[in-house]
Amino acid sequence: MKNLQDFADDINKCSKCGLCQSVCPVYKLTGNDCAVSRGKFVMLDGVLKGDLKLNRNIEKYLDLCIKCGKCKNFCPSDIDVCKIFAAAKYECAKKSLSGRFIFFLESKVVFDSVLAVLKFFKSVFYRKKKNAGETPKKIKILYFKGCANEIFPAVDIALEKILENTSLELIEKDFSCCGTPFLSSGNLKRYEEVKAKNLSIIKNAEFDFLSADCASCQDALNNYGENIQCVNLLEIISKQNLKFKFSTPRKVTFHKPCHLQNDDFVKELFEKCENIEYVEMKDYDECCGFAGEFALQNPKISRALASKKIDNAISTGADYIVTTCPACILGLKFGAAGKKSAPQVKSLIEFLADAEEIINC
Ligand code: SF4
Ligand code: SF4
Repeated sequence: MKNLQDFADDINKCSKCGLCQSVCPVYKLTGNDCAVSRGKFVMLDGVLKGDLKLNRNIEKYLDLCIKCGKCKNFCPSDIDVCKIFAAAKYECAKKSLSGRFIFFLESKVVFDSVLAVLKFFKSVFYRKKKNAGETPKKIKILYFKGCANEIFPAVDIALEKILENTSLELIEKDFSCCGTPFLSSGNLKRYEEVKAKNLSIIKNAEFDFLSADCASCQDALNNYGENIQCVNLLEIISKQNLKFKFSTPRKVTFHKPCHLQNDDFVKELFEKCENIEYVEMKDYDECCGFAGEFALQNPKISRALASKKIDNAISTGADYIVTTCPACILGLKFGAAGKKSAPQVKSLIEFLADAEEIINC
């Protein structure tokens, strides 16, 4: 596990060009240079030189970040900003009372116990259909379900309906959380723990594809290194010869989660739908403002980003806004609250499963 000092060279690679300002959603809204990576690197450089203390003031600016990674993708110096912010956040959080309390809530005992109870409640209401005598499927997918789908059955139900007539088989294992929330809170020890467990499951499993439907889980797994390649489940579904027949015309727009690298499959999926008109909204790839803890730490900014997103969706006249991340669904729902003409918010998988008929052609 690297500490802040280990990133001194990376921090020095920042040329202060300011290009990150043009992509940072928080900077664009606030105009605050401490919101963007350049400003944060100036502060962290001061900390490493001993001119500044890593105190609550600096932590406040570290928290002023959605961890969308847009500045990383745009940075000409190729600095892995999110890893540096996580290392700095770890140094701050382990010293503060609130940080230690969050680490306690995220500990294996507390986090996993709460998840186990919620999974139990889900199992009372939802049981997967048993398909006795079904012929083996050709493509084996090691499915990283993610905490939200472990708790809520909606995606399971949708997937059962969509995958029924395909050559895809989902293999489920006892994965831990992908680690995204732990990176965000600076809980690097816990992150390394879940990463090691998940990597061991992946390395010992037999499969054709490793896949997740949540963009944040997919991105987290792809950032484990060790040549792990996690494909979005919807991308795999888009390559199947499926037709989604909707009986009534619907207009739909798509919100691209910050952590979704490739979204080409979205248009491909809508092309497989009958009676569906896809309309791209303005800034469809801008953050919805939720981003886990960010929404709690910076509620005004979070609400403003969500509201702007929904206004853009309303301008398209769409009946639905769909996405591929449970956290974004929450963000979009907050943004839509109280707006009369807001489109209905759904996960893309559930939207497709709403088709009256799904045929394998
Ligand atoms: S784009 Fe990269 S090099 Fe330029 S100011 Fe931002 S972090 Fe520094
Ligand atoms: S990760 Fe996103 S929110 Fe954070 S500084 Fe970079 S662009 Fe801004």
